Amino acid sequence: MKFTPEKYRIPDEPMKPFVDASEIEQYLSHAKPDKTIVRNVIAKSLEKNRLTLAETAMLVNADDPELVEEIKDGARRLKKSVYGNRIVLFAPLYVGNKCTNNCRYCGFRISNKAAVRKTLSHNEIVSEVEALEDKGQKRLILVFGEHPDYSPEYIADVVRMVYQIKKGNGEIRRVNINAAPQEIEGFRTVKEAGIGTYQIFQETYHPEAYVWYHPSGHKKDYGYRLTSLDRAQEAGLDDVGIGALFGLFDWRFDVMALIRHTNHLEACYNVGPHTISFPRYQEASLVKLNGKYRVSDKDFTRLIAILRLAVPYTGLILTARENAGIRKEALQYGVSQIDAGTKIELGSYALSADNAQNLDKEQFRINDDRSLNEVMEELIETGYIPSFCTACYRLGRTGEHFMEFSVPGFIKRFCSPNAMLTLTEYLVDYAPDTTAEKGWNLIEKELKLLDSHARADDIRGRIERIKAGERDLYY
Ligand code: SAM
Ligand code: SF4
Repeated sequence: MKFTPEKYRIPDEPMKPFVDASEIEQYLSHAKPDKTIVRNVIAKSLEKNRLTLAETAMLVNADDPELVEEIKDGARRLKKSVYGNRIVLFAPLYVGNKCTNNCRYCGFRISNKAAVRKTLSHNEIVSEVEALEDKGQKRLILVFGEHPDYSPEYIADVVRMVYQIKKGNGEIRRVNINAAPQEIEGFRTVKEAGIGTYQIFQETYHPEAYVWYHPSGHKKDYGYRLTSLDRAQEAGLDDVGIGALFGLFDWRFDVMALIRHTNHLEACYNVGPHTISFPRYQEASLVKLNGKYRVSDKDFTRLIAILRLAVPYTGLILTARENAGIRKEALQYGVSQIDAGTKIELGSYALSADNAQNLDKEQFRINDDRSLNEVMEELIETGYIPSFCTACYRLGRTGEHFMEFSVPGFIKRFCSPNAMLTLTEYLVDYAPDTTAEKGWNLIEKELKLLDSHARADDIRGRIERIKAGERDLYY
Protein backbone atom coordinates (compact mmCIF):
# COMPACT_ATOMS: atom_id res chain seq x y z
CA MET A 1 0.00 0.00 0.00
CA LYS A 2 1.57 3.23 -1.12
CA PHE A 3 1.55 6.23 1.17
CA THR A 4 3.85 9.22 0.94
CA PRO A 5 3.74 11.08 4.22
CA GLU A 6 3.79 14.84 4.08
CA LYS A 7 6.30 16.96 5.93
CA TYR A 8 4.49 18.56 8.84
CA ARG A 9 5.39 21.65 10.79
CA ILE A 10 5.23 19.53 13.92
CA PRO A 11 7.16 16.38 12.97
CA ASP A 12 5.93 13.03 14.22
CA GLU A 13 7.76 11.87 17.31
CA PRO A 14 6.49 9.21 19.69
CA MET A 15 4.71 10.58 22.76
CA LYS A 16 4.77 14.15 21.47
CA PRO A 17 1.67 16.17 20.44
CA PHE A 18 1.42 16.40 16.68
CA VAL A 19 -1.60 18.53 15.78
CA ASP A 20 -0.97 22.03 14.45
CA ALA A 21 -4.41 23.58 14.08
CA SER A 22 -3.26 26.38 11.77
CA GLU A 23 -1.62 23.83 9.47
CA ILE A 24 -4.85 21.87 9.16
CA GLU A 25 -6.71 25.12 8.52
CA GLN A 26 -4.24 25.95 5.78
CA TYR A 27 -4.76 22.61 4.09
CA LEU A 28 -8.47 23.36 4.15
CA SER A 29 -8.19 26.91 2.89
CA HIS A 30 -5.87 25.90 0.05
CA ALA A 31 -7.87 22.93 -1.21
CA LYS A 32 -9.85 24.08 -4.25
CA PRO A 33 -11.20 20.89 -5.71
CA ASP A 34 -12.46 20.61 -9.25
CA LYS A 35 -14.00 17.56 -10.85
CA THR A 36 -10.73 16.21 -12.21
CA ILE A 37 -8.90 16.55 -8.92
CA VAL A 38 -11.66 14.88 -6.92
CA ARG A 39 -11.97 12.05 -9.42
CA ASN A 40 -8.22 11.45 -9.34
CA VAL A 41 -8.23 11.34 -5.55
CA ILE A 42 -11.12 8.85 -5.54
CA ALA A 43 -9.31 6.75 -8.16
CA LYS A 44 -6.17 6.73 -6.03
CA SER A 45 -8.13 5.42 -3.07
CA LEU A 46 -9.86 2.77 -5.18
CA GLU A 47 -6.37 1.53 -6.01
CA LYS A 48 -6.06 0.90 -2.26
CA ASN A 49 -3.77 3.83 -1.56
CA ARG A 50 -3.92 5.89 1.60
CA LEU A 51 -4.71 9.52 0.97
CA THR A 52 -2.51 12.39 2.15
CA LEU A 53 -3.92 15.27 4.17
CA ALA A 54 -3.83 17.50 1.08
CA GLU A 55 -5.88 14.94 -0.86
CA THR A 56 -8.29 14.45 2.02
CA ALA A 57 -8.80 18.22 2.11
CA MET A 58 -9.87 18.06 -1.55
CA LEU A 59 -12.62 15.58 -0.67
CA VAL A 60 -13.63 17.54 2.40
CA ASN A 61 -14.00 20.74 0.38
CA ALA A 62 -15.85 19.13 -2.53
CA ASP A 63 -19.26 20.69 -1.87
CA ASP A 64 -20.70 20.29 -5.37
CA PRO A 65 -23.59 17.79 -4.91
CA GLU A 66 -22.46 15.86 -7.98
CA LEU A 67 -18.99 15.39 -6.47
CA VAL A 68 -20.42 14.48 -3.07
CA GLU A 69 -22.35 11.71 -4.83
CA GLU A 70 -19.16 10.58 -6.57
CA ILE A 71 -17.34 10.47 -3.23
CA LYS A 72 -20.14 8.37 -1.73
CA ASP A 73 -20.15 6.15 -4.75
CA GLY A 74 -16.37 5.72 -4.51
CA ALA A 75 -16.70 4.72 -0.86
CA ARG A 76 -19.45 2.26 -1.79
CA ARG A 77 -17.24 0.68 -4.44
CA LEU A 78 -14.22 0.50 -2.19
CA LYS A 79 -16.27 -1.12 0.55
CA LYS A 80 -17.68 -3.69 -1.85
CA SER A 81 -14.46 -4.56 -3.59
CA VAL A 82 -12.26 -4.66 -0.51
CA TYR A 83 -14.46 -5.81 2.33
CA GLY A 84 -17.32 -7.72 0.81
CA ASN A 85 -20.53 -7.89 2.77
CA ARG A 86 -19.63 -8.72 6.35
CA ILE A 87 -20.70 -6.52 9.25
CA VAL A 88 -19.21 -7.18 12.67
CA LEU A 89 -21.60 -6.85 15.61
CA PHE A 90 -20.91 -5.94 19.22
CA ALA A 91 -22.64 -4.47 22.27
CA PRO A 92 -21.49 -1.83 24.74
CA LEU A 93 -21.58 -2.63 28.45
CA TYR A 94 -21.50 0.43 30.69
CA VAL A 95 -19.71 -0.64 33.87
CA GLY A 96 -19.55 2.60 35.83
CA ASN A 97 -20.52 6.24 35.37
CA LYS A 98 -18.59 7.89 38.18
CA CYS A 99 -16.56 10.65 36.63
CA THR A 100 -14.19 13.36 37.80
CA ASN A 101 -14.21 15.21 34.49
CA ASN A 102 -16.60 17.88 33.42
CA CYS A 103 -17.04 17.42 29.68
CA ARG A 104 -19.69 19.93 28.69
CA TYR A 105 -21.44 17.51 26.33
CA CYS A 106 -21.70 14.45 28.59
CA GLY A 107 -24.38 13.55 31.12
CA PHE A 108 -21.78 11.82 33.29
CA ARG A 109 -19.82 15.05 33.92
CA ILE A 110 -19.08 15.76 37.56
CA SER A 111 -21.20 18.90 37.71
CA ASN A 112 -24.32 16.99 36.69
CA LYS A 113 -25.70 16.42 40.16
CA ALA A 114 -28.86 14.89 38.70
CA ALA A 115 -26.92 11.84 37.48
CA VAL A 116 -27.25 8.81 39.71
CA ARG A 117 -23.71 7.44 40.10
CA LYS A 118 -23.31 3.73 39.92
CA THR A 119 -20.71 1.03 39.36
CA LEU A 120 -21.98 -2.44 38.61
CA SER A 121 -21.29 -4.93 41.39
CA HIS A 122 -19.70 -8.30 40.68
CA ASN A 123 -23.14 -9.95 40.62
CA GLU A 124 -24.58 -7.26 38.40
CA ILE A 125 -21.74 -7.71 35.89
CA VAL A 126 -22.48 -11.43 35.86
CA SER A 127 -26.21 -10.79 35.27
CA GLU A 128 -25.53 -8.26 32.53
CA VAL A 129 -23.06 -10.48 30.69
CA GLU A 130 -25.34 -13.50 30.98
CA ALA A 131 -28.23 -11.44 29.61
CA LEU A 132 -26.04 -10.36 26.68
CA GLU A 133 -24.92 -13.93 26.05
CA ASP A 134 -28.54 -15.08 26.14
CA LYS A 135 -29.20 -12.79 23.19
CA GLY A 136 -26.23 -14.18 21.25
CA GLN A 137 -23.62 -11.45 21.77
CA LYS A 138 -19.98 -12.51 21.54
CA ARG A 139 -18.13 -9.18 21.45
CA LEU A 140 -18.40 -6.42 24.04
CA ILE A 141 -16.97 -3.00 24.60
CA LEU A 142 -16.74 -2.07 28.28
CA VAL A 143 -17.33 1.62 28.97
CA PHE A 144 -16.15 3.50 32.07
CA GLY A 145 -16.23 7.09 33.29
CA GLU A 146 -12.91 8.52 34.45
CA HIS A 147 -12.55 7.96 38.18
CA PRO A 148 -9.92 6.67 40.62
CA ASP A 149 -12.22 3.67 41.26
CA TYR A 150 -11.66 2.57 37.65
CA SER A 151 -7.94 1.89 37.94
CA PRO A 152 -6.13 -0.21 35.33
CA GLU A 153 -6.15 -3.12 37.80
CA TYR A 154 -9.90 -2.77 38.27
CA ILE A 155 -10.53 -2.60 34.52
CA ALA A 156 -8.28 -5.65 34.01
CA ASP A 157 -10.18 -7.56 36.72
CA VAL A 158 -13.51 -6.78 35.07
CA VAL A 159 -12.15 -7.93 31.69
CA ARG A 160 -10.95 -11.24 33.14
CA MET A 161 -14.27 -11.70 34.90
CA VAL A 162 -16.25 -11.08 31.71
CA TYR A 163 -14.24 -13.72 29.82
CA GLN A 164 -15.06 -16.27 32.51
CA ILE A 165 -18.83 -15.76 32.48
CA LYS A 166 -20.40 -18.48 30.34
CA LYS A 167 -24.04 -19.36 30.09
CA GLY A 168 -25.29 -22.26 27.97
CA ASN A 169 -23.36 -21.99 24.73
CA GLY A 170 -22.82 -18.30 25.41
CA GLU A 171 -19.44 -16.72 25.98
CA ILE A 172 -17.76 -13.40 25.33
CA ARG A 173 -14.81 -13.87 23.02
CA ARG A 174 -13.57 -10.34 22.65
CA VAL A 175 -13.65 -7.50 25.15
CA ASN A 176 -12.77 -4.02 23.92
CA ILE A 177 -12.40 -0.99 26.18
CA ASN A 178 -13.52 2.63 26.08
CA ALA A 179 -12.11 4.30 29.16
CA ALA A 180 -9.82 7.06 30.31
CA PRO A 181 -6.25 7.29 29.02
CA GLN A 182 -3.69 5.42 31.12
CA GLU A 183 0.00 5.73 31.83
CA ILE A 184 2.18 3.20 29.95
CA GLU A 185 2.15 0.81 32.92
CA GLY A 186 -1.64 1.04 33.15
CA PHE A 187 -2.07 0.18 29.47
CA ARG A 188 0.22 -2.79 30.03
CA THR A 189 -1.94 -4.01 32.91
CA VAL A 190 -5.11 -3.78 30.84
CA LYS A 191 -3.49 -5.43 27.82
CA GLU A 192 -2.39 -8.39 29.94
CA ALA A 193 -6.04 -9.10 30.73
CA GLY A 194 -6.48 -9.95 27.04
CA ILE A 195 -8.37 -6.99 25.65
CA GLY A 196 -9.02 -6.41 21.98
CA THR A 197 -9.09 -2.71 21.08
CA TYR A 198 -8.54 0.20 23.48
CA GLN A 199 -10.58 3.16 22.23
CA ILE A 200 -9.97 6.76 23.21
CA PHE A 201 -11.69 9.58 21.39
CA GLN A 202 -10.08 13.01 21.20
CA GLU A 203 -13.63 14.46 21.02
CA THR A 204 -12.38 17.49 19.12
CA TYR A 205 -8.81 17.92 17.92
CA HIS A 206 -9.09 21.69 17.88
CA PRO A 207 -6.98 22.77 20.89
CA GLU A 208 -8.99 25.86 21.84
CA ALA A 209 -12.36 24.22 21.41
CA TYR A 210 -11.04 21.23 23.36
CA VAL A 211 -10.12 23.42 26.31
CA TRP A 212 -13.56 25.01 26.33
CA TYR A 213 -15.36 21.66 26.32
CA HIS A 214 -13.14 20.22 29.06
CA PRO A 215 -12.95 22.88 31.75
CA SER A 216 -11.66 20.68 34.59
CA GLY A 217 -10.44 17.24 35.57
CA HIS A 218 -7.63 15.23 33.98
CA LYS A 219 -9.28 15.39 30.63
CA LYS A 220 -8.66 19.12 30.32
CA ASP A 221 -5.05 18.34 29.31
CA TYR A 222 -5.29 18.25 25.50
CA GLY A 223 -1.75 16.97 24.92
CA TYR A 224 -2.05 14.18 27.47
CA ARG A 225 -5.18 12.88 25.75
CA LEU A 226 -3.74 13.34 22.28
CA THR A 227 -0.70 11.20 23.09
CA SER A 228 -2.62 8.56 25.04
CA LEU A 229 -2.58 6.00 22.26
CA ASP A 230 1.16 6.57 21.86
CA ARG A 231 1.46 5.40 25.46
CA ALA A 232 -0.70 2.40 24.59
CA GLN A 233 1.68 1.57 21.74
CA GLU A 234 4.70 1.99 24.02
CA ALA A 235 3.01 -0.54 26.32
CA GLY A 236 2.78 -3.00 23.45
CA LEU A 237 -0.95 -2.41 23.02
CA ASP A 238 -1.03 -1.92 19.28
CA ASP A 239 -4.75 -2.43 18.79
CA VAL A 240 -6.12 1.06 19.29
CA GLY A 241 -9.21 2.98 18.21
CA ILE A 242 -9.36 6.72 17.60
CA GLY A 243 -12.44 8.92 17.27
CA ALA A 244 -13.93 12.39 17.31
CA LEU A 245 -17.28 13.49 18.70
CA PHE A 246 -18.91 15.28 15.80
CA GLY A 247 -20.99 18.32 16.67
CA LEU A 248 -18.42 19.91 18.97
CA PHE A 249 -16.41 21.70 16.30
CA ASP A 250 -16.26 22.09 12.51
CA TRP A 251 -16.56 18.56 11.10
CA ARG A 252 -14.11 19.38 8.32
CA PHE A 253 -11.38 20.15 10.82
CA ASP A 254 -11.96 17.01 12.85
CA VAL A 255 -12.04 14.73 9.78
CA MET A 256 -8.66 16.15 8.77
CA ALA A 257 -7.34 15.73 12.30
CA LEU A 258 -8.42 12.07 12.41
CA ILE A 259 -6.30 11.52 9.32
CA ARG A 260 -3.45 13.47 10.92
CA HIS A 261 -3.72 11.16 13.94
CA THR A 262 -3.66 8.13 11.66
CA ASN A 263 -0.53 9.47 9.96
CA HIS A 264 1.11 10.02 13.34
CA LEU A 265 0.50 6.45 14.49
CA GLU A 266 1.72 5.09 11.18
CA ALA A 267 4.84 7.29 11.26
CA CYS A 268 5.77 6.47 14.85
CA TYR A 269 4.59 2.89 15.27
CA ASN A 270 4.20 1.60 11.77
CA VAL A 271 0.60 0.68 12.48
CA GLY A 272 -2.47 2.83 12.04
CA PRO A 273 -5.57 2.73 14.21
CA HIS A 274 -7.57 -0.49 14.18
CA THR A 275 -10.79 1.49 14.15
CA ILE A 276 -12.06 5.00 13.68
CA SER A 277 -15.26 6.09 15.45
CA PHE A 278 -17.31 9.16 14.66
CA PRO A 279 -19.99 9.48 17.30
CA ARG A 280 -22.31 12.39 16.69
CA TYR A 281 -23.32 14.52 19.66
CA GLN A 282 -26.73 13.57 21.09
CA GLU A 283 -28.66 15.52 23.67
CA ALA A 284 -27.84 14.42 27.18
CA SER A 285 -29.17 15.15 30.65
CA LEU A 286 -28.99 18.89 31.35
CA VAL A 287 -26.70 19.38 28.35
CA LYS A 288 -27.50 21.78 25.56
CA LEU A 289 -24.93 22.77 23.01
CA ASN A 290 -25.84 25.77 20.90
CA GLY A 291 -25.93 23.77 17.69
CA LYS A 292 -23.38 25.90 15.83
CA TYR A 293 -21.43 22.82 14.78
CA ARG A 294 -24.35 20.46 14.43
CA VAL A 295 -23.61 17.98 11.63
CA SER A 296 -26.52 17.35 9.28
CA ASP A 297 -27.32 13.81 8.15
CA LYS A 298 -26.07 14.72 4.68
CA ASP A 299 -22.69 15.92 5.94
CA PHE A 300 -22.48 13.02 8.36
CA THR A 301 -22.81 10.33 5.68
CA ARG A 302 -20.48 12.35 3.50
CA LEU A 303 -17.78 12.48 6.17
CA ILE A 304 -18.07 8.71 6.65
CA ALA A 305 -17.47 8.22 2.93
CA ILE A 306 -14.45 10.55 3.08
CA LEU A 307 -12.94 8.64 6.00
CA ARG A 308 -13.47 5.37 4.12
CA LEU A 309 -11.60 6.67 1.10
CA ALA A 310 -8.85 8.38 3.10
CA VAL A 311 -7.95 5.31 5.20
CA PRO A 312 -9.11 2.31 3.19
CA TYR A 313 -7.72 -0.29 5.61
CA THR A 314 -9.29 0.78 8.89
CA GLY A 315 -12.44 -0.49 10.56
CA LEU A 316 -15.17 2.14 10.79
CA ILE A 317 -17.57 1.97 13.74
CA LEU A 318 -21.06 3.45 13.80
CA THR A 319 -23.09 3.18 17.00
CA ALA A 320 -26.74 3.18 17.99
CA ARG A 321 -26.48 6.89 18.77
CA GLU A 322 -27.68 7.08 15.15
CA ASN A 323 -31.12 6.01 14.00
CA ALA A 324 -31.76 2.86 11.99
CA GLY A 325 -32.16 4.77 8.71
CA ILE A 326 -28.79 6.54 8.90
CA ARG A 327 -27.13 3.34 10.03
CA LYS A 328 -28.50 1.44 7.08
CA GLU A 329 -27.34 4.10 4.66
CA ALA A 330 -23.88 4.43 6.25
CA LEU A 331 -23.21 0.71 5.93
CA GLN A 332 -22.88 1.22 2.21
CA TYR A 333 -20.10 3.76 2.64
CA GLY A 334 -17.79 1.47 4.47
CA VAL A 335 -18.92 1.13 8.07
CA SER A 336 -17.65 -2.27 9.14
CA GLN A 337 -18.78 -2.59 12.77
CA ILE A 338 -22.03 -1.66 14.48
CA ASP A 339 -23.48 -2.27 17.90
CA ALA A 340 -26.86 -3.95 18.17
CA GLY A 341 -29.33 -4.62 20.96
CA THR A 342 -27.69 -1.66 22.70
CA LYS A 343 -28.68 -0.39 26.14
CA ILE A 344 -26.59 2.24 27.84
CA GLU A 345 -28.37 2.58 31.19
CA LEU A 346 -26.26 0.84 33.81
CA GLY A 347 -27.68 -2.57 34.63
CA SER A 348 -30.38 -2.54 31.96
CA TYR A 349 -29.55 -5.66 29.94
CA ALA A 350 -30.66 -7.93 32.76
CA LEU A 351 -33.91 -6.03 33.41
CA SER A 352 -37.31 -6.39 31.81
CA ALA A 353 -38.31 -3.47 29.57
CA ASP A 354 -40.73 -2.16 32.25
CA ASN A 355 -38.12 -2.09 34.98
CA ALA A 356 -35.53 -0.58 32.67
CA GLN A 357 -37.86 2.42 32.24
CA ASN A 358 -36.97 3.55 35.76
CA LEU A 359 -33.23 3.53 35.23
CA ASP A 360 -31.19 6.68 35.05
CA LYS A 361 -30.91 7.86 31.45
CA GLU A 362 -28.13 10.34 31.79
CA GLN A 363 -25.31 10.02 29.33
CA PHE A 364 -27.09 10.61 26.05
CA ARG A 365 -29.99 9.18 24.10
CA ILE A 366 -29.61 6.31 21.69
CA ASN A 367 -31.70 6.40 18.53
CA ASP A 368 -31.59 2.78 17.45
CA ASP A 369 -33.06 0.66 20.21
CA ARG A 370 -33.80 -2.41 18.11
CA SER A 371 -32.92 -5.82 19.51
CA LEU A 372 -29.88 -7.72 18.29
CA ASN A 373 -32.18 -10.06 16.39
CA GLU A 374 -34.02 -7.22 14.66
CA VAL A 375 -30.74 -5.70 13.51
CA MET A 376 -29.45 -9.08 12.35
CA GLU A 377 -32.61 -9.75 10.44
CA GLU A 378 -32.36 -6.44 8.63
CA LEU A 379 -28.70 -7.12 7.78
CA ILE A 380 -29.53 -10.57 6.45
CA GLU A 381 -32.44 -9.24 4.39
CA THR A 382 -30.15 -6.59 2.90
CA GLY A 383 -27.56 -9.21 1.97
CA TYR A 384 -24.98 -8.49 4.69
CA ILE A 385 -23.52 -11.36 6.70
CA PRO A 386 -23.63 -10.46 10.39
CA SER A 387 -20.37 -11.64 11.96
CA PHE A 388 -19.24 -12.26 15.52
CA CYS A 389 -15.84 -13.41 14.34
CA THR A 390 -12.95 -13.07 16.78
CA ALA A 391 -10.55 -15.49 15.09
CA CYS A 392 -7.63 -13.24 14.18
CA TYR A 393 -7.06 -11.74 17.53
CA ARG A 394 -7.34 -15.10 19.27
CA LEU A 395 -4.94 -16.72 16.81
CA GLY A 396 -2.50 -13.86 17.24
CA ARG A 397 -3.04 -12.72 13.65
CA THR A 398 -2.56 -9.11 14.71
CA GLY A 399 -3.14 -6.37 12.24
CA GLU A 400 -5.98 -8.39 10.78
CA HIS A 401 -7.76 -5.28 9.59
CA PHE A 402 -4.72 -4.54 7.56
CA MET A 403 -4.43 -8.09 6.23
CA GLU A 404 -8.09 -8.18 5.27
CA PHE A 405 -7.37 -5.22 3.19
CA SER A 406 -3.95 -5.96 1.78
CA VAL A 407 -3.59 -9.74 1.54
CA PRO A 408 -5.30 -10.96 -1.61
CA GLY A 409 -7.94 -13.57 -0.83
CA PHE A 410 -7.72 -13.06 2.95
CA ILE A 411 -11.41 -12.23 3.27
CA LYS A 412 -12.48 -15.20 1.18
CA ARG A 413 -10.19 -17.55 3.08
CA PHE A 414 -10.85 -16.38 6.61
CA CYS A 415 -13.37 -13.60 7.15
CA SER A 416 -16.35 -14.78 5.12
CA PRO A 417 -16.16 -18.40 6.31
CA ASN A 418 -15.80 -17.23 9.92
CA ALA A 419 -18.75 -14.89 9.49
CA MET A 420 -20.81 -17.85 8.23
CA LEU A 421 -19.69 -20.03 11.14
CA THR A 422 -20.51 -17.44 13.80
CA LEU A 423 -23.83 -16.77 12.08
CA THR A 424 -24.48 -20.52 12.15
CA GLU A 425 -23.95 -20.54 15.92
CA TYR A 426 -26.42 -17.69 16.27
CA LEU A 427 -29.01 -19.39 14.08
CA VAL A 428 -28.73 -22.66 16.00
CA ASP A 429 -28.63 -21.17 19.50
CA TYR A 430 -30.60 -17.93 19.52
CA ALA A 431 -32.53 -17.05 16.36
CA PRO A 432 -36.32 -17.28 16.13
CA ASP A 433 -37.49 -19.57 13.31
CA THR A 434 -38.21 -16.78 10.84
CA THR A 435 -34.74 -15.26 11.23
CA ALA A 436 -33.15 -18.70 11.10
CA GLU A 437 -34.80 -19.47 7.78
CA LYS A 438 -33.52 -16.23 6.25
CA GLY A 439 -30.08 -16.83 7.73
CA TRP A 440 -29.76 -20.36 6.29
CA ASN A 441 -30.77 -19.06 2.87
CA LEU A 442 -28.10 -16.38 3.06
CA ILE A 443 -25.42 -18.87 4.08
CA GLU A 444 -26.41 -21.16 1.22
CA LYS A 445 -26.18 -18.25 -1.20
CA GLU A 446 -22.76 -17.27 0.15
CA LEU A 447 -21.46 -20.82 -0.14
CA LYS A 448 -22.51 -20.93 -3.77
CA LEU A 449 -20.57 -17.73 -4.44
CA LEU A 450 -17.29 -19.28 -3.27
CA ASP A 451 -14.99 -20.07 -6.15
CA SER A 452 -13.59 -23.19 -4.52
CA HIS A 453 -15.78 -26.27 -4.09
CA ALA A 454 -13.32 -27.71 -1.62
CA ARG A 455 -13.61 -24.66 0.61
CA ALA A 456 -17.40 -24.66 0.41
CA ASP A 457 -17.42 -28.34 1.38
CA ASP A 458 -15.07 -27.68 4.26
CA ILE A 459 -17.31 -24.90 5.56
CA ARG A 460 -20.40 -27.11 5.13
CA GLY A 461 -18.63 -29.76 7.21
CA ARG A 462 -18.04 -27.28 10.01
CA ILE A 463 -21.61 -26.03 9.85
CA GLU A 464 -22.78 -29.62 10.38
CA ARG A 465 -20.41 -29.97 13.34
CA ILE A 466 -21.92 -26.82 14.89
CA LYS A 467 -25.42 -28.22 14.34
CA ALA A 468 -24.24 -31.36 16.11
CA GLY A 469 -23.16 -29.35 19.14
CA GLU A 470 -19.56 -28.17 18.61
CA ARG A 471 -18.87 -24.46 19.09
CA ASP A 472 -16.18 -21.91 18.36
CA LEU A 473 -14.90 -23.33 15.09
CA TYR A 474 -12.91 -20.89 13.03
CA TYR A 475 -10.27 -20.54 10.34
N1 SAM B 1 -14.86 8.38 30.11
C1 SAM B 1 -14.19 7.90 28.97
C2 SAM B 1 -13.81 9.00 28.03
O1 SAM B 1 -14.33 10.11 28.17
O2 SAM B 1 -12.99 8.75 27.18
C3 SAM B 1 -14.96 6.89 28.20
C4 SAM B 1 -16.43 6.85 28.32
S1 SAM B 1 -17.29 8.11 27.46
C5 SAM B 1 -18.83 7.74 28.08
C6 SAM B 1 -17.29 7.49 25.77
C7 SAM B 1 -17.56 8.50 24.71
O3 SAM B 1 -18.91 8.89 24.72
C8 SAM B 1 -16.80 9.79 24.81
O4 SAM B 1 -15.48 9.64 24.38
C9 SAM B 1 -17.63 10.70 23.93
O5 SAM B 1 -17.11 10.76 22.62
C10 SAM B 1 -19.01 10.03 23.90
N2 SAM B 1 -20.06 10.94 24.38
C11 SAM B 1 -20.08 11.65 25.52
N3 SAM B 1 -21.17 12.44 25.57
C12 SAM B 1 -21.86 12.24 24.43
C13 SAM B 1 -23.07 12.79 23.88
N4 SAM B 1 -23.79 13.70 24.53
N5 SAM B 1 -23.48 12.35 22.67
C14 SAM B 1 -22.77 11.42 22.00
N6 SAM B 1 -21.62 10.86 22.47
C15 SAM B 1 -21.17 11.29 23.67
FE1 SF4 C 1 -16.60 11.51 32.03
FE2 SF4 C 1 -16.02 10.43 29.62
FE3 SF4 C 1 -18.39 11.64 30.07
FE4 SF4 C 1 -16.22 13.09 29.95
S1 SF4 C 1 -17.08 11.85 28.26
S2 SF4 C 1 -17.81 13.30 31.52
S3 SF4 C 1 -14.72 11.77 30.85
S4 SF4 C 1 -17.64 9.79 31.03
